[in-house]
Amino acid sequence: MSEAGGQSRATLWVVATPIGHLGDLSGRARELLETVPVIAAEDTRISRRLLAQRPTAPRWIRLNEHSEDRVLDEVLGVLQSGLDVALVSDAGTPLVSDPGYRLVSAAHAAGLRVSPIPGPCAAIAALSTSGLPSDRFWFEGFLPARSAARRRRLQALAAMPASIICYVPARDLVEVLDDCITVLGADRPATIARELTKHHETIQRGRLAELHVFCRDDPEQGRGESVLVVAGSERPPAAIDAAALAAELALELPPSRAARVLSKLSGLSRKQAWDLVERHRADKPGAAIVTSDD
Ligand code: SAM
Repeated sequence: MSEAGGQSRATLWVVATPIGHLGDLSGRARELLETVPVIAAEDTRISRRLLAQRPTAPRWIRLNEHSEDRVLDEVLGVLQSGLDVALVSDAGTPLVSDPGYRLVSAAHAAGLRVSPIPGPCAAIAALSTSGLPSDRFWFEGFLPARSAARRRRLQALAAMPASIICYVPARDLVEVLDDCITVLGADRPATIARELTKHHETIQRGRLAELHVFCRDDPEQGRGESVLVVAGSERPPAAIDAAALAAELALELPPSRAARVLSKLSGLSRKQAWDLVERHRADKPGAAIVTSDD
């Protein structure tokens, strides 16, 4: 039980665990996992390995993507009875491409205390060693497994002016890099961070085309787990020709809707957008001779 605001309240601890090297389990995480009465874990066989020193077994609750909804009430019930619960995933930080979101959200909604024991996360470990801009980044998680859907998703990310972090099983690296080259261009800088903190750790930087060759020619690169970090776009987003857009919208929509859409897309104020749409309205005399050069 934990003291918070002078009141004794049970806590849902969200505990990060190693992504490879077991020495990365923090002192706080170890202490908690050795004493907490209940542990909600994705795979209890994997998490058990972290508790070699624990004299008495905790109560285990299996919480994975299939069981999360089913065990939610059970975990909330444990917390409401006054017992702390530790949430762990197989590796890294729970909820980061791992289960736990619905539990944490429900715990907040029930007025329970939620507290992190921060630590390893493959996305952050990869970003921080990638040599790519880290001031702004987009965490994409897993890309779609099928190439067509993956290319569509990459298209949606192509203009993002921030480093993009993707979780990629190493066996898919060649295929994923192939799609990245098609959509983002062969010259985009990127880094592959594979088997981080493990014996075969590899952190390889290069243009997408270079990384493609690197992975294709070395079968070792197809083994284990990897993170692909791709540099953001350096091209500013294409400028919108507000007058041309106003002319199109005025043809297709009633004026007030056209002005609203124009304002949203162009960044013009509602008044400016309205004035521009008014100038292009087809039902106004002279509208047909107004062009985007006016
Ligand atoms: N919650 C975890 C975290 O905080 O990083 C991520 C879990 S997600 C199910 C697993 C993915 O994380 C793997 O497919 C891989 O992309 C990445 N990953 C996990 N451990 C890794 C490691 N040691 N090296 C590189 N990538 C790793």
